[in-house]
Amino acid sequence: MPFTTLGLGSKITLALKEQGYVEPTPIQAKAIPLVLEGRDLIGVAQTGTGKTAAFVLPLLERLSASPSTRHMRALVVAPTRELVVQIEENVRAYGRHLSLHYATVFGGVGEGPQIQALRRGVDLVVATPGRLIDLMEQRFVNFADLQVLVLDEADRMLDMGFLPPIRRIVGAIPKTRQTLLFSATMSKEIEAVTREFLKAPALVEIGARSTPVEAVTQWVVEVSMAAKVPALVHLLKDAALESVLVFSRTKHGADRIARKLDDAGIKTATLHSNRTQGQRILALKRFKSGEVRCLVATDIAARGIDVDGISHVINYDFPPQPEDYVHRIGRTGRAQAIGDAISFVTHDDHDTLRKLERFLGRGIPRKTLEGLAANAPQPQRAAPAAGSWRPRGPGGPRRFGQRRGPQGRRGRT
Ligand code: AMP
Repeated sequence: MPFTTLGLGSKITLALKEQGYVEPTPIQAKAIPLVLEGRDLIGVAQTGTGKTAAFVLPLLERLSASPSTRHMRALVVAPTRELVVQIEENVRAYGRHLSLHYATVFGGVGEGPQIQALRRGVDLVVATPGRLIDLMEQRFVNFADLQVLVLDEADRMLDMGFLPPIRRIVGAIPKTRQTLLFSATMSKEIEAVTREFLKAPALVEIGARSTPVEAVTQWVVEVSMAAKVPALVHLLKDAALESVLVFSRTKHGADRIARKLDDAGIKTATLHSNRTQGQRILALKRFKSGEVRCLVATDIAARGIDVDGISHVINYDFPPQPEDYVHRIGRTGRAQAIGDAISFVTHDDHDTLRKLERFLGRGIPRKTLEGLAANAPQPQRAAPAAGSWRPRGPGGPRRFGQRRGPQGRRGRT
């Protein structure tokens, strides 16, 4: 099905062709006509399904069909700066042949350029809630002409405690607006939010391209606190760990891990909220280009980052919440590439691990470091709690450390 049948104009479809997109993804095929009709929409889809284009494309189409008013006509609210920057990159790529004006609003950088951009006149703004509220309070934001509001990664925004600022933002926007809400999961909280903010919404639900429990080979490795750094260095010496996302519970921890890895001669980049926006963008760029193969991140900083082809996720610190575990390991194994997730577990993490296994409804196989690196028994996918472990899917088992075949990991994009 070509993009033109969805109701997108020639300038947008040209930009898509230049991006190398051949056809819409399932969520795009379903969502775009509904958004163009003006319907409110709930999109349940994870990163990696093409969900950003599913709302950006019809937004651009709608905006380009009527004259600019110089005041914001569409607003996308997203939980993190990284996600805002990524959405804006999409907007600029798909809207490159349109004469619309875009701006981003997020904290951690000076307000001046953002205020100037709003003053110059904008059609579409992508913002994090905090800074947007700051600018609203200073009366730099005019919502009078706002027609479409998008809440992206709404589940993460709720997790991060953004419901009060979102309420304030939505309360300031005309009721005649169209509202789109995207979330990786549907929970009671999300349902309540949709009832509060959306009118007779259509629901578009797309299964994840890969569900972590099925697509990612997961291991738990028992370590003492003191053995964590040597264990990580030991793992990273294996070249098969081509692009590794390492999760630290804290920002300081992330810096410390990066220092230790640097000392061991392993080039690393770090991503956490104590770093400046410029440093974060550079860290992602170095990781995406393959200049460094290891990115050390905190949960919040890693949220929503779009890096294909991560071969391994290492939970250096075990995540306190099962949802964080699922989110973390969902960073690998995307696009059907089988990825590995290795979690370090100390004595103190045992209760949390049991909680996670109950949440997943499965046990996660335990390995020693030696067992991982040696020609270990066949790697297993996360096994059902009851027992009976399934062997790996097509292509047969892959020994830990063995390179994937040509159909395996794709280049990072
Ligand atoms: P998202 O789920 O929005 O994070 O998108 C995941 C990736 O898919 C991004 O790198 C997009 O550039 C890419 N993408 C989105 N739509 C398409 C499409 N129709 N064809 C090919 N790639 C796409």
